[in-house]
Amino acid sequence: MELKATENQRMIADMVRDFGAKHIKPKMREWDESQEFPVEVFKQLGELGLMGVLVPTEYGGSGFGYLEYVTAIAELSKIDGSIGLSMAAHNSLCTGHILQFGNEEQKQKYLPKLATAEWIGAWGLTEPNTGSDAGNMRTVAVQDGEYWVINGAKNFITHGKTGNVAVVIVRTGEVGDSHGMTAFVIEKGTPGFSAGRKEDKLGMRASETTELIFQDCRVHQSQILGNVGEGFIQAMKVLDGGRISIAALSLGIAQGAFEAALAYSQERSQFNKPISSFQGIAFKLADMATEIEAASLLTYQAADMKNRGLNVNKESAMAKLYASEVSVRVANEAVQIFGGYGFTKDYPAEKYYRDAKLCTIGEGTSEIQKLVISRAILK
Ligand SMILES: Cc1cc2nc3c(=O)[nH]c(=O)nc-3n(C[C@H](O)[C@H](O)[C@H](O)COP(=O)(O)OP(=O)(O)OC[C@H]3O[C@@H](n4cnc5c(N)ncnc54)[C@H](O)[C@@H]3O)c2cc1C
Repeated sequence: MELKATENQRMIADMVRDFGAKHIKPKMREWDESQEFPVEVFKQLGELGLMGVLVPTEYGGSGFGYLEYVTAIAELSKIDGSIGLSMAAHNSLCTGHILQFGNEEQKQKYLPKLATAEWIGAWGLTEPNTGSDAGNMRTVAVQDGEYWVINGAKNFITHGKTGNVAVVIVRTGEVGDSHGMTAFVIEKGTPGFSAGRKEDKLGMRASETTELIFQDCRVHQSQILGNVGEGFIQAMKVLDGGRISIAALSLGIAQGAFEAALAYSQERSQFNKPISSFQGIAFKLADMATEIEAASLLTYQAADMKNRGLNVNKESAMAKLYASEVSVRVANEAVQIFGGYGFTKDYPAEKYYRDAKLCTIGEGTSEIQKLVISRAILK
């Protein structure tokens, strides 16, 4: 088993670290406080090729595989989970859906703009009453000749307001029929399509999360991705890959929290000794490092399998489940190691702690990952 980082992974990690030190670290506290999504930084990351990591070069992307993708998200999330989350949603969900299921014309039209972040992408599956039970959605599209008329609302949508284009999955058949949903690609400015309320969140505050509202929104049939009735099945496939990106996000947050706690434990003295010399603290660090290593192995295993074209349904759910729970545990211990200072905004621990929690919820909660894993092993 080859575990050494490739030249491309090392290059990407260095590039992200340099960029983050110059353009993210100095402002991230401010964005977190004000809940500002830094569009300009997002676009600069696009210029570096990080918004179309998996998009082939003929569509203007970087043409890398999942190993490089995981490295990029993890490195970015070590610095700021919010930007990591936005990058994951843009690449895996909106862009990933068009890349996997768009026809040639749709790919030519949208991928070059998305891969360079000239356009920002959103992806709408969740609704106010249907999160884990997404197949029970009520937003509906009714056919009218060559057009479809969409009514309803999606919520918790990353880049719902700033996004220039959204892929949305809506009902076109009976409730309860997994073949009764269809994916549409819809541009901002389409009459009847607007952003609603912006969420005021615990963490990931610089990643924008809003409602999407559809009021008699007419879209042409050429905006359907794949065929009518395939939307839900497509979404599940998109999420299989997307979960690798949330595992990478979790890994990065855990690594960032660990590195901060490790350094602090060697600087902070109590009883005339660095606190790292107390076994109670050293053992916490040992547990954190071990769990991060295990999360990393699961994440890169899923990435490697995805690169080889294998079914990663179970492995991506395992990576997402484990890495996200580790992220929460590690961030929690980091706050503990920082003591009272960990509870203040003068140190990074509290932000990792707030940001980590999203990882056990977004793109399927931990409970839903266990459902996916148990179905795979019990069949
Ligand atoms: C910051 C953020 C960004 C997001 N971005 C997007 C996005 O871009 N696009 C998008 O479509 N969605 C997005 N989401 C939505 C996210 O995917 C959902 O929040 C998530 O799937 C959970 O759905 P829910 O919030 O409705 O919780 P619910 O489904 O109501 O779950 C509530 C609780 O019940 C548990 N539960 C539910 N069903 C079961 C079951 N069968 N067995 C055991 N336990 C169960 C859950 O695990 C959870 O603990 C985002 C959410 C957040 C917070």
